[in-house]
Amino acid sequence: MDFVDLGLSPEVLQAVTDAGYTKPTPIQEQAIPVVLTGRDVLGCAQTGTGKTAGFTLPMIDILAAGRAKARMPRSLILEPTRELAAQVANSFETYGKHHKLNMALLIGGESFADQERKLDRGVDVLIATPGRLLDLIERGKILLSDVKILVIDEADRMLDMGFIPDVERIVGFLPKLRQTLFFSATMPPEIRRLADAFLSNPKEISVAPPASPAATVEQALVVVDAMEKREALRRLIRAEQVKNAIIFCNRKRDVDILYKSLVKHGFDAVALHGDMAQAKRTETLERFKAGEARLLVASDVAARGLDIQGLSHVFNFDVPIHAEDYVHRIGRTGRAGQSGKSFTIAAPEDGRAVAAITALIGKEIPLATVEGLTSEALVYDDTRRRRGGRAGSRGSAPHRPAARPARTRRRDEASGQSDEPRRAPPRERAGDRRRPERIHTPRAEPVRMTPEGMARERPANVTPFAEAVERRGGRHHDGREEQQRIVGFGDHLPAFLARPVRLAGG
Ligand code: AMP
Repeated sequence: MDFVDLGLSPEVLQAVTDAGYTKPTPIQEQAIPVVLTGRDVLGCAQTGTGKTAGFTLPMIDILAAGRAKARMPRSLILEPTRELAAQVANSFETYGKHHKLNMALLIGGESFADQERKLDRGVDVLIATPGRLLDLIERGKILLSDVKILVIDEADRMLDMGFIPDVERIVGFLPKLRQTLFFSATMPPEIRRLADAFLSNPKEISVAPPASPAATVEQALVVVDAMEKREALRRLIRAEQVKNAIIFCNRKRDVDILYKSLVKHGFDAVALHGDMAQAKRTETLERFKAGEARLLVASDVAARGLDIQGLSHVFNFDVPIHAEDYVHRIGRTGRAGQSGKSFTIAAPEDGRAVAAITALIGKEIPLATVEGLTSEALVYDDTRRRRGGRAGSRGSAPHRPAARPARTRRRDEASGQSDEPRRAPPRERAGDRRRPERIHTPRAEPVRMTPEGMARERPANVTPFAEAVERRGGRHHDGREEQQRIVGFGDHLPAFLARPVRLAGG
């Protein structure tokens, strides 16, 4: 099928040709004709599938007829992050260049006055992140009663970031009679529930994720002592032909630390995370895209959807806490059929997080060594992990295993949209060069990391204290974790409590 078969106007087709697209992607083939008929769409598609053009192209044609009134946008697109919102705005500019549509971008961190001025002029397309939009609605600066088309993009990401209550409130301000296009990379039950609430007789479209990262991205995993991760990164950057690279950290704080460290070592780096002012974020991204800086140290705010042409490398300075973030991160390179390379730098304690990734992508990440550094083995060692939490506060950096995100609410206010991982692991502290404390744990059997290793039973370890808890009617199940979990001690049972007590006369 060709673009001309989809029912788009000659102007939009011209813009598509100007963009250099020759064939529609599967989501475009399926979505565009349906959107043009005015029907709701429930799209299960990730970024990289071409879904943005899948909704923007027909929207441009639908909105071409009609004019917007002041402060009453005719369409609304909700995006979870400012970067994605800005990217969709760019798409509208690219594809709408032969039309006279007014567009406004409402994202946290930008001046209210500028945004309000634009709204006053009347906008056909309003692209917003939920927090900033709600602010403006609450301050009476905007009316959504004229919105004819609503797009909710990256719904599962909205859920992860705690934006769903905001989205529900926003939808409450919209007219019932409208067209709704709802996109999500995954369809967990909570997302289904929302889709059912927001959509009316939608056409369901599901497309395969973009080419698996393995196809275009050469992946490698290096395992080094936690204290040698920065050295490993520097050596890898020097050894590789890095044209431009994103270096991902799990936490914003570590983005700053690593960025400063790289600059100190003479690398040409910039930093990007959700606590930075929006103007600075935009400027940083522009500089990086323009090739003015070779390295972008970033949090996961840069992992989804960002389209940086010809990125040669992705480095995961931290193993992502959520396995799916790995796919998004390394998907920044190897785009549009180009080849790319990713290196994930793991500490031995990251075994479980790495195993979660290999389980998700269905293959092992090939191991690589760093010239001059000793390679370590990944371990899955729960006791060490638990104790490591305390050791971590003194300088070591063990990771917690992948955990489901707490559905905490985050707003993308001027303070910055939070992109912190939901359950952050204790991290390496700047300047602390002490070696991590190696805790000898005779009870726990270290398991070499394999996906099967995750499922392997750990030795049962019923302590007398736990037995006593059971006898007293306390919670006692089959798993060791449960047996040792005593209210008030978290998941760590101090050893002295586990020792049998010799009672007088007993
Ligand atoms: P998206 O999934 O919307 O983030 O799009 C991912 C990338 O695919 C963007 O760089 C788009 O410019 C590009 N793209 C979208 N549609 C097409 C197409 N039909 N042919 C080639 N590239 C496309």
